[in-house]
Amino acid sequence: MKKIVFLILMTLFLQQCSQKKVDLTKQPEQKTMEDNTHKNNPYYSRTDKTKLTVSNEEWKKILPAEVYAISREANTEYPFTGKYNEFDELGEYYCAVCGNHLFRSSSKFASTCGWPSFFEADKEGVSYKRDSTHGMERIEVLCKRCDSHLGHVFNDGPPPTGTRFCMNSVSLDFQADSKK
Ligand SMILES: [Zn+2]
Repeated sequence: MKKIVFLILMTLFLQQCSQKKVDLTKQPEQKTMEDNTHKNNPYYSRTDKTKLTVSNEEWKKILPAEVYAISREANTEYPFTGKYNEFDELGEYYCAVCGNHLFRSSSKFASTCGWPSFFEADKEGVSYKRDSTHGMERIEVLCKRCDSHLGHVFNDGPPPTGTRFCMNSVSLDFQADSKK
């Protein structure tokens, strides 16, 4: 009889343990991408619009090397290599450096240039600067909040704007509508 009671207790105990195990495995899934990718970046926010004045010296300590090289030193990723070049999920694009909103997926179009392209930007998200480097006259697109380099804008885009924002995937963070 004692043996049976012991067995029942053991079964109950084991059931509780396995229940706990399930709970534990669920916890990491509840964390968002934002928490994991930007946990070392105290300036990253998708709601705070306050202008940032952070030195490159500090950004270098915070950002992954690839993001720093493109966003802070205006390098360009190789064409046809970026993760958002051939990508058509529905959602929002944010600055990879500071989290500022930049584009909506509905303004993205299939461009053949090799970089993710948009015909319209969030007016509150981007600013512009004349760029005469590399023997070309271009207009550089910057994040309005943190002044990071995003790419360039050209006037050969599709309707309705005729504008082509040619962006680096590395400069962008994507949040799918389905994951909101
Ligand atoms: Zn930014």
